[in-house]
Amino acid sequence: MAAAGGILTVDLGAVAANYALIRREAAGAEVSAVVKADAYGLGMGPVARRLAAEGCRTFFVADAREGTSLRALLPQGDIYVLNGLFPGAAAPLAQAALRPVLASLAELAEWQAAGAPFPAALHFDTGMNRLGMGEAEAEALAQDPSLTAGVEVSLILSHLACSDEAAHPRNGEQLHRFRALLTRLQPHFPKAKASLSNSGGIFLGPDYHFDMVRPGVSLYGGNPFTGRPHPFRPVVTAQARVLAVREVAPGDSVGYGATWKAARKARIAVLAAGYADGFFRSLSSDLPGGISGGESGGRVYIGGGMAPVAGRVSMDMAMADVSNLPEGAVKRGDMAELIGPHISVDEVGLRAGTLGYEILTALGARYMRRYIEDGKESAAENGGEA
Ligand SMILES: *Cc1c(COP(=O)(O)O)cnc(C)c1O
Repeated sequence: MAAAGGILTVDLGAVAANYALIRREAAGAEVSAVVKADAYGLGMGPVARRLAAEGCRTFFVADAREGTSLRALLPQGDIYVLNGLFPGAAAPLAQAALRPVLASLAELAEWQAAGAPFPAALHFDTGMNRLGMGEAEAEALAQDPSLTAGVEVSLILSHLACSDEAAHPRNGEQLHRFRALLTRLQPHFPKAKASLSNSGGIFLGPDYHFDMVRPGVSLYGGNPFTGRPHPFRPVVTAQARVLAVREVAPGDSVGYGATWKAARKARIAVLAAGYADGFFRSLSSDLPGGISGGESGGRVYIGGGMAPVAGRVSMDMAMADVSNLPEGAVKRGDMAELIGPHISVDEVGLRAGTLGYEILTALGARYMRRYIEDGKESAAENGGEA
């Protein structure tokens, strides 16, 4: 620990609590887990193992490579690959017993030609215009059984474009189209479950639950809603070491570009985290971040108080103005909180001009990672080296 510039703590007990909360909210539906992008940056292995221990049976990843890593950790369990089937990629999917989420008739034909070794999901677009088949393909599938001959369709899914905004009219439109699709297709695929909702969709009410829900960010403590609070427990704490505390004379500048100038004598803490650690450069004090109408720039919790970022965030370091904290409150070797109990991942996202989602998935590889389970070090995940 003493050698670590940054420490990232992932609370697996909080992940389990968030999973339990979603289970209550979506009672009656299966609650799967979306663990793509290394479980949103938190570590797919520890997260998926804990969720499996909580009873989660179905997992979603983005591509076959993620799926293959996950299969090595979870011999049981259904793993769906959201980005579908790449040309010629049926064999690697089959090798890891993965289920493609097929987004076109071409993908379906390839899976079928490869012998459809595992069940597959059919992905329909109901208004997002990202991936998925449309009404014409649904009609073709309903009319021509040869298109799916030999393929076990285990899931029919669609994805909501605006579930972060409960009042958005797109939600109701997509629900309506999804229901129409199911009416047309379910008689032909009686074993297929139906799934529409990501984290935000689950909170639009039971109409949106169908057979299975697909939460991602909410499991990891991020806010799936825009502009309103959320009930999930925070999961991630990111801390950076104080490398030095220095005095800066009035008029002196700090950092690249000399953009931050001390109005009076100032005390500056130099922190061991920069944009290579996912502490975005847009958190610099002189670059416009995302806070509407407010000041730009990030802040950190350090020495018992908040301190604003001073100057530009660089690759491996950032500076914080700790002049307002009592002298001696911040010392070389202390840890500053970048994300944690005082600064939510969503606040960081807002200040950086992005979302909590992007902050989580951008957490760098340099952090020393610790996993805790219900307050204690996780012996299984930390291998005793914590
Ligand atoms: C990423 C993703 C999810 C999870 O979304 P969250 O907003 O993180 O809950 C669910 N379904 C699909 C198709 C996705 O791509």
